Amino acid sequence: MIISRPMSGKIRTARNYVQTVLILLFFITPWLRWNGMQLIRLDIPERKFFLFGNIFVPQEGYFLHLFLIGAGLCLFFFTSLIGRVWCGWACPQTIYSDVFDYIGGLIQGSKYGKKDSPFASRALTHTIWLLVSALASAAWIAYFADPHIMLSYFLNFGSVSEIPTWAYFLGFFTLAMYADIAFVREQFCKYACPYARFQTVMMDTNSINITYDFNRGEPRRKGTTKIGDCTACNMCLVVCPTGIDIREGTNVWCIACGKCSDACTKQMQKEGKKTLIGYWSENQIREKTKAFKWIRPRTVVYAGGLVLVLTVLNLLLWERVPLYLSILADRNIQPVDVGDGKVRNFYEAQMQNLTLQNRNLKFEIEKTDLEGIRRLWIGGTEEAVVELPANSDKRYRLFIELEPTALDASKKSHEITLKVSDIHDPSFKKTNVVPFLLPVAIAKKKNQSVARTLWIRVLNEPSFL
Ligand code: SF4
Ligand code: SF4
Repeated sequence: MIISRPMSGKIRTARNYVQTVLILLFFITPWLRWNGMQLIRLDIPERKFFLFGNIFVPQEGYFLHLFLIGAGLCLFFFTSLIGRVWCGWACPQTIYSDVFDYIGGLIQGSKYGKKDSPFASRALTHTIWLLVSALASAAWIAYFADPHIMLSYFLNFGSVSEIPTWAYFLGFFTLAMYADIAFVREQFCKYACPYARFQTVMMDTNSINITYDFNRGEPRRKGTTKIGDCTACNMCLVVCPTGIDIREGTNVWCIACGKCSDACTKQMQKEGKKTLIGYWSENQIREKTKAFKWIRPRTVVYAGGLVLVLTVLNLLLWERVPLYLSILADRNIQPVDVGDGKVRNFYEAQMQNLTLQNRNLKFEIEKTDLEGIRRLWIGGTEEAVVELPANSDKRYRLFIELEPTALDASKKSHEITLKVSDIHDPSFKKTNVVPFLLPVAIAKKKNQSVARTLWIRVLNEPSFL
């Protein structure tokens, strides 16, 4: 584990601002509401995802797939342009490592990270690290559970009889985060993070990354012999949180935090020169040009894919009706001949209201190839209107009765398109296609009658053929 030397500078200050905003967003977001719902919450027991006033259910998983494809393409696009900026500026691993370092430096001063640091201050540092881990873990769990309920649980801790499931996760995440940031730290970036490995295929020599200007820097100073600009002060190495020497070339372990650039800026200022390390592309150094090539085949392909996925996602969201509807033929009850030549088919309708308004849903037959008189019952009434309270789901038995004509009976299986709409808001509607089957006996009887009708017609009207 490496505790690197702190380094102030322009990049450090900029990262402080970015990281502070990200931390505040991370902690505040679970408390924000939109349309009366938590802004972002993945409610696993309820199998619902609350997002900006919308409720999504697992059956709408295609949104998640498109979002993940979009996030992947976004990662490809930005990595091909600006390298591992995520790692150094926005990754929780880096941000909390910086927070832990800040706390350590505040308590232990210049002794932080050294073996001779007093035990009491080290113990205090670790205690506060544990506390920070618990707070960050609680904030993380608040994306899966209501933070108000979590808070009231802690406020009434003594009187609570049952420990909620999330409390176990809170304990686990707290210990995992403490162990990771306090002891594993940069080892995770080096050996466990998959992004560090596959980023190399997204980058090329035109991608911006932390790069050493070897043209100016080399050959380095040797003793008092000064040839290139690098003074061989090794400050870039001393401040590096992953312990690499960026002067050896672009390294898969570099998290693009820019600490070495700040260190070199300070060192070069003493010489009255510009930094030797900065956010440049390899080609900018090799070809000694300051122009950066934004438009390249890979950036165009990634951007094109990203625009396409985002367009499809937005169109689907635009057309989305927040109602989950599934009407399936009841396999336990076969189509029944109920007398007088009438046939009934039975179905099970499952609905989920994904809004915060109560709905009165009317079921209607919108389209069918059946000719006979049709009637539809749901919830025990032919009015076919059922109540579906806000953010709730219900199941109803539905059946359709038909007086088949001879032509209907010529086919055993038919299709019916059912329309379900809110009686107060016609735009809130969905359709579902269900099969309608005729019992074999009816089909046979009616088929005989069709054959007889056709035969009589042929006898009377030979031209019919
Ligand atoms: S080489 Fe520089 S940018 Fe890369 S991790 Fe080390 S200090 Fe950060
Ligand atoms: S900080 Fe700059 S001058 Fe010092 S060793 Fe590194 S590259 Fe050379």
